[in-house]
This record gives sequence, structure tokens and C-alpha cells, in this order.
Amino acid sequence: MLIVLFALLLCWKISNVQSAPVETEVDFSSDRILDLSYTYDKNTVYWPHGKGYDTFNLTMIAYNEADPDKIFYRAGYYSTGEHGGTHIDTPAHLLRNGTDAENLEIQQLIGPAVVISIAEHIQAGHLDYALSPSDVSQWESQHGRIPDGAFVFLFADWGQRWPDRQRVFNVDDLSDYSHMRFPGFHPDAIQWLITQRDIRGVASDGPSVESSVDIASERMGTHILLAKHNRIGVENVANLHKVPATGATVILMPMKISNATGAPLRLFAVLPEQKE
Ligand SMILES: [Zn+2]
Repeated sequence: MLIVLFALLLCWKISNVQSAPVETEVDFSSDRILDLSYTYDKNTVYWPHGKGYDTFNLTMIAYNEADPDKIFYRAGYYSTGEHGGTHIDTPAHLLRNGTDAENLEIQQLIGPAVVISIAEHIQAGHLDYALSPSDVSQWESQHGRIPDGAFVFLFADWGQRWPDRQRVFNVDDLSDYSHMRFPGFHPDAIQWLITQRDIRGVASDGPSVESSVDIASERMGTHILLAKHNRIGVENVANLHKVPATGATVILMPMKISNATGAPLRLFAVLPEQKE
């Protein structure tokens, strides 16, 4: 019975907020679903804002723990920054009146995934590589046009650094933004993906959608473009090495927090059928 239920092919109608509706079928069989989120715990890597906010805290209260004759009950209280772990960046992050986590539309949170690898640049020592428009064109010449409503994932093989903060940001002193080194999307690539294609957002397995070069210069061009065009950023994506270049669908489930500029994100991919 369970097998039959899992094998049900569900039709998922995806309506594109920016253009004509896109209709696709998504198979929710258990072997197709891949969790792309890291666990929240004391090791979670946060953007180092300092001020003691950069950790996840869970405090548990329990009643009757040692008394088997009474009901066991417990409940936790947790606190977290918005920009840590696998999380979403909303337009409100860089735009005064940008959409916050509460007001994102569900349609903005579902779409086809494409994965562009820059791992060879990282292996060659270019740790702050910024994905360029020509990288995207090259990818398209190999894999086809990026579909409307897509989320574009940057794969830098950064997951192998998780959760070592110094290795994620590539710096000893986490307050030293000017010497961090990590990859991201070049603002020109974001401009192209928004104006020449119709993406819903971008995501990285690194700590930012922006390369450390643009963070250090305080230009933040990638973040600002995404915000101005009401597009989404996702950071610290887990398990990205298991997602193929094309064919997966991703579903983003950020916590619905009023006024939040970012939010913890449960992110999963529905993988395409394996070709024999
Ligand atoms: Zn963020």
C-alpha cells in the first residue's frame, strides 16, 4: 500500500508569476526526493554579524522526566539569526520596501532547478570566483536553454567545508570581511539571468550568492539586483553534488516570518527519473 502511495504520480501545476504558466509533472516517489537543507544545531554556520547572534540556540523544558507514572512532556524554545544555515534571502534584505518572508508568494518558491558547476575554478585555487554571463552561455550550449521560472544553483563543491566556519569563509578572523574568500554569482550574470531569461532566483552551496569580492567592496551588486527584481537568493545549500545539471524541481519552504529579511529554509529537490 505504501509503495503504491509513494509511486503516485502527482501533477503539479506551476504558474509563473512573471510570465505564462508553465505546467510540469513532478513524481514524489520517496527515492526521488532529496533534502538540500542542513540541520540547525550549535554547529550551524551563520553570516558573522557578530554581537553574539551567530549561533542557533535551543533550550528544552521538560516535565516528569524521571517519573514513569506521569506523562512525559517537553517543549523547546529556540532562537536563530535569519542568515544562517540553509536559508532564504528575501528582497527585503537589500531593499527598504522589498518583499519580506511573510509576503513571498508560494509560486515564487517552486521551480525547475539548473545546476552550474564552477568546481574546476575552485580546484584551481580561484576561491572567490564569480560566475559570469559567459559561464551561463557555455552551460546553455551544453544543456539547453534555462527554463522559465528556474532556480539557478551554483555548485562550488563548498559542502565539503561545512560546518567549519573558517573554511566556509576562508578566513581566520570572521570579523574580517575584507579577507574572506568564497565564490558567488557576478552581478552581470544576475542581470542576464533576469533580463534575458526569466529566473525565480539563484542559490549557492557557499555562504553567499555574492562572491567575496563584491562583499569586500561593499557593492553587493548581486544581492541588490535580486532584491530590485523581487527575486530570491538561497545560501548554504546542502547535497548539491547529488543534483543533476537539469531535470530536478526544487521546492522552497522558508519559515513564514513577518518582516524577516531572510528565514531558515527547508529546501528539497524532486530528482528526474534516472535514465537506464
Ligand atoms: Zn542570507
